[in-house]
Amino acid sequence: MPKNILIKEGSSSKDRQNLFLQADNIRKKYCGEDVHLRGIIEFSNYCEKNCFYCGLRRGNTKLKRYRMSPEEIMVTARQVVSTGVKTIVLQSGEERKDIREICGIVEQIKKTLDCAVTLSIGEKTFSEYKDLKNAGADRYLLKFETSNEQLFKKLKPDSSYQARLKCLDILKQLGYQTGAGNIVGLPEQTIKILEEDILLLEKLNPDMVSITPFLPHPDTPLGKHPSGDLNLTLEMLSLGRIYVPTSHMPATTAIRTLHKEGTEKALMCGANVIMPNFTPYEYKKLYLIYPDKICLKENAEESIKDIYKLVTKLGRKISTGYGHSLKKRET
Ligand code: SAH
Ligand code: SF4
Repeated sequence: MPKNILIKEGSSSKDRQNLFLQADNIRKKYCGEDVHLRGIIEFSNYCEKNCFYCGLRRGNTKLKRYRMSPEEIMVTARQVVSTGVKTIVLQSGEERKDIREICGIVEQIKKTLDCAVTLSIGEKTFSEYKDLKNAGADRYLLKFETSNEQLFKKLKPDSSYQARLKCLDILKQLGYQTGAGNIVGLPEQTIKILEEDILLLEKLNPDMVSITPFLPHPDTPLGKHPSGDLNLTLEMLSLGRIYVPTSHMPATTAIRTLHKEGTEKALMCGANVIMPNFTPYEYKKLYLIYPDKICLKENAEESIKDIYKLVTKLGRKISTGYGHSLKKRET
């Protein structure tokens, strides 16, 4: 299979279309026409970290913080499954906090509902990841954000690139289906760094690849930095598909926030997953990683109807399975 690098500045849009087409063909070959839905519940916006790009950073004292109760999470989880969605993604800011509560929630979801559970709650210790796995978590999403160690340190000051990679390694060892990825459009991020991101993805060969455009939040140090470029993001998605052909790759809310047709564009250059947001409105409006999250105006049922329409229009179909890793057999 011929491998591409990013389209050089000044190249024709025909080169770009060819790259998108190549990614779409690989998606067809490895994933077929199925689009998997993952229902996301953003259960807490408390965060002890100070990532420069993120509105949930601890330095953002303007943000009102919330934590959903286990009962509220379970009510929302039941709502996800009742709409036919077979994966629940539990996401939050990062806190050094006893994980027994979240283990209990995962256990209850897995015992009472027919679905897979993905966690996206940041860096934890080996034993915490192990307890969460034993509680029944199937998958874990932990983006490396950038493969450049210096840039990582600058933008994620209270974490380290090596520690992040170590976490990914532990997750894999523990048997999680693992997700990794980057942000496109960070300050000082060069084309060379983005290409290194793709090579790191190839090396990690994760089960899920998440590539999102940077979107500025005014109450962060990067508030005045421009958004990630749409075409560059779509090129990166295409390369993600080409270099990790057996991954599940979402058309993220961030891409749709960047461009109103972002979802269809992403689905046509490698993406095969959509993540409808089920966070109750009162909390969703406070989970502001970046502002103007498009889903703020929608309720989950409405957005699922729109997703069905869009997916059908593209000649694709919503999967009825769990959408487990393509590297393993569906269980
Ligand atoms: N706290 C956890 C999970 C929640 S953040 C963690 O950091 O892993 C989920 C993702 O949001 C991050 O991995 C990052 O890639 C993305 N993100 C944060 N701020 C962003 C921004 N301003 N624009 C685009 N993506 C952003
Ligand atoms: Fe916290 Fe995650 Fe945002 Fe960093 S990206 S500030 S860890 S929520």
